[in-house]
Amino acid sequence: MGSIGIVGAGVAGMVAASRLARAWHRVVVLEGRDELGGRTRSRPVDGDVLELGGQMIASRHRRMRKLVAENGLHLRREQSGLGIIRWRGPQHTRGQAIPPARPRDLAAAIRLLLALRRGPADDRLSAAEWLRSARLTPALEDMIFPALAGMFCVDLDEVSAVQVLEFVDGLGGGIPCLLGGLGNHYRIVEGMSALHDRLAATLPEPVRLGSTVTHVGQDRAGVTLGCADGRSVEVDYAILCVPATAAIAFDPPLPEQSAYDAVTFAPATKVAAVVPRKRAWQAPGFVGGSPVIAGWRTRHVLYGFALNGAAQRSDEELVTDLLAGFALSPAEAERTEVIRWAQDEFTHGTYVHYRPGEMHLRTRLARPQGRVFFASAERSASWPIHMEGAAESGAMAADEISALAAP
Ligand SMILES: Cc1cc2nc3c(=O)[nH]c(=O)nc-3n(C[C@H](O)[C@H](O)[C@H](O)COP(=O)(O)OP(=O)(O)OC[C@H]3O[C@@H](n4cnc5c(N)ncnc54)[C@H](O)[C@@H]3O)c2cc1C
Repeated sequence: MGSIGIVGAGVAGMVAASRLARAWHRVVVLEGRDELGGRTRSRPVDGDVLELGGQMIASRHRRMRKLVAENGLHLRREQSGLGIIRWRGPQHTRGQAIPPARPRDLAAAIRLLLALRRGPADDRLSAAEWLRSARLTPALEDMIFPALAGMFCVDLDEVSAVQVLEFVDGLGGGIPCLLGGLGNHYRIVEGMSALHDRLAATLPEPVRLGSTVTHVGQDRAGVTLGCADGRSVEVDYAILCVPATAAIAFDPPLPEQSAYDAVTFAPATKVAAVVPRKRAWQAPGFVGGSPVIAGWRTRHVLYGFALNGAAQRSDEELVTDLLAGFALSPAEAERTEVIRWAQDEFTHGTYVHYRPGEMHLRTRLARPQGRVFFASAERSASWPIHMEGAAESGAMAADEISALAAP
């Protein structure tokens, strides 16, 4: 019987593995960490879950929503659209209500929405340059820049305008994105880790945890996956469902190595605080401020993103700033987590931002080499920073191999 090695047990890897197992292929899943989920892992908290990484599923993320339903889990709708969240201007600590728009702000907003409808910008432009070309007013700039930077986890000078415009387009365009797409989303009630556990239960063999692949060799007969502990696994085909930033040596070398050398993930930090359930809430989220640039909450967990500058800030400073955005004091946190994704040895950041002129990397990273295929969010043509993209990419790679390998 032919065998397929899957490296990485995040969304892409688990989707690929369970799809291949259902088609009666023999799959061996190797995961470097001691747990499943990669960038989507949860921790139980009283009556809720705390998500260390990805959590929001947009209504347009049909593949993820189907996956959740098929695996007997439940989605809860969360709302924190720009209409109801609070805004922290550069001089604020607490979130404030968005001030009434002046006529010139409205005119600039209309100019921006019209520009969004014109379609893809020049990839050589950064998102910041493109937005400035729409002649935003300072008030609008103070809202839109942090909202998008919070979403991409980097300053907008660092992202291609095309990537940002594709993202807005994917959520249905400017108005739906601002009013609903960014805020109207779902999350898995049982937590992301529950989804991975359910997917793992569909596999005939347990995932081999603590198996970091360092070498991938291939010849006409098959693929060898060499692990850091000296063991190796021989398979007919492999899908590397690891972030494009993973340090793995290939023999023969990858023709697209220069794309791997160039790709960058945002060095952001996710800050979370569990607060008492009965605490009265000011708002479901805020945008703007520093070091936490955007915050949102689920039932009684507050979350926020801090960008690169947070590297110099202590955990306490980050948590204090997150709570301040919701007008809460540090004493009100029952539990806190600060996840510095830039220091994560398996990911080296949160997710991809294609710099100006670098959108071409995406297709190059997805290119298979002989018997070795690749899958992960950043390799997806439609949702490169989302779980939806990881699920799509994992499913596509599994289908390509299924067509080649006899079960
Ligand atoms: C803080 C944060 C917040 C996010 N928020 C959202 C959100 O709200 N909504 C959304 O849709 N997306 C969000 N994302 C993005 C989303 O989580 C990712 O796009 C998606 O989970 C990526 O899945 P993946 O399978 O491609 O990669 P990963 O989840 O990174 O999985 C890759 C797996 O490979 C393993 N691995 C790596 N190297 C090796 C190796 N050498 N050997 C063996 N195993 C290896 C890793 O440990 C990992 O388990 C967020 C991400 C982060 C970090």
